[in-house]
Amino acid sequence: MQPFDFVREHEVSTAVKAGSRDGAKFIAGGTNLVDLMKCDVEHPTHVVDINAVPLSKVEQVPGGVRIGALVRMSDLAVHPLIVKNFPAISQSLLVSASPQIRNMASIGGNLMQRTRCPYFRELTWTPCNKRNPGSGCSAIEGENRLHAILGTSDACIATHPSDLAVAVAALDGVLTLRGPKGERQVNATDFHLLPGNTPHIEHDLKHGEMITSLFIPDGPHAKRSSYLKIRDRASFEFALTAAAVGLDLDGSLIRSARVAFGGVGTKPWRAKFAEAALGGQRATPDVFRAAAEAEMKSAVAHRQNAYKIELMKRTLVRALSDLAGGVA
Ligand SMILES: Cc1cc2nc3c(=O)[nH]c(=O)nc-3n(C[C@H](O)[C@H](O)[C@H](O)COP(=O)(O)OP(=O)(O)OC[C@H]3O[C@@H](n4cnc5c(N)ncnc54)[C@H](O)[C@@H]3O)c2cc1C
Ligand code: SF4
Repeated sequence: MQPFDFVREHEVSTAVKAGSRDGAKFIAGGTNLVDLMKCDVEHPTHVVDINAVPLSKVEQVPGGVRIGALVRMSDLAVHPLIVKNFPAISQSLLVSASPQIRNMASIGGNLMQRTRCPYFRELTWTPCNKRNPGSGCSAIEGENRLHAILGTSDACIATHPSDLAVAVAALDGVLTLRGPKGERQVNATDFHLLPGNTPHIEHDLKHGEMITSLFIPDGPHAKRSSYLKIRDRASFEFALTAAAVGLDLDGSLIRSARVAFGGVGTKPWRAKFAEAALGGQRATPDVFRAAAEAEMKSAVAHRQNAYKIELMKRTLVRALSDLAGGVA
């Protein structure tokens, strides 16, 4: 591990100043950053601890809920406001990682976590465009059973690992960012970027900017929402496929739907084609299946991950069937 200095900041303004130095990185729970520092994928020269910055509130605000970036995953998962009005958010957290990690890990850090592609995390292995731009992608012809089928490029096929980010994308979350040039808001669906030719550029966060909060609008889609995750084992495992769904129903008629996929996309995948296929239809398994087919038309499989296409379709049908719960 490369030597680094460490400061603890207590205010957003001083944290941003410290985080703007060349080679600086924020640390919150440290469950991702420290891992990556140990395997030398991340090598900050300044580590800025933001845990004392007062960003740990969950507040009901006009039109929704505002969640401080330093709220812990475990606290948010069981917060009464979230459980009642934003069940997909709560459920996505409860199926993430382990209780110990959720106790440490923050909401901001969760949205910023980096891919679990094994080639990315192991320096002695083969090329990786995300870790070492221009070196190539070992996964495309290599071990790719867990890799993405939506939003891939010739440069990278790594999945985005966060469960929470998928629920946030489905429910129209908005991030507030604070940097040296002031504050700005970014829709969660625009925050994470497709890999294209630059897979090392993963989000719309400039150096020195920090996530200060996350806003989720309330409304029918948020209230009737859920998160379904399919994985190799029942706990402490990343998604093979996942669906965050929200429905605005009038009896069995779907007024409109919100859908996002996890485990299959290079970014949290807002499923606009599926949403379009659901709107104005009756909530039936055939309609759900047609919506899944519509979204997965653009899926591109590699040697070991074609199974994800059918699995993702079934995941969506099951998530929607459970959520609609016998209204058809
Ligand atoms: C064994 C294991 C299993 C896991 N399983 C899952 C899983 O199933 N689902 C899932 O979603 N996640 C899973 N995770 C990932 C875990 O949820 C993340 O490591 C955690 O959420 C990161 O949060 P943190 O606060 O610890 O971030 P840190 O490690 O402190 O930071 C991570 C990154 O975010 C940046 N950062 C942190 N806070 C901010 C901020 N406010 N503004 C800007 N940048 C910031 C840091 O600079 C760093 O680059 C797993 C992790 C492990 C180790
Ligand atoms: S899929 Fe992406 S992260 Fe994995 S080896 Fe290829 S470039 Fe690297």
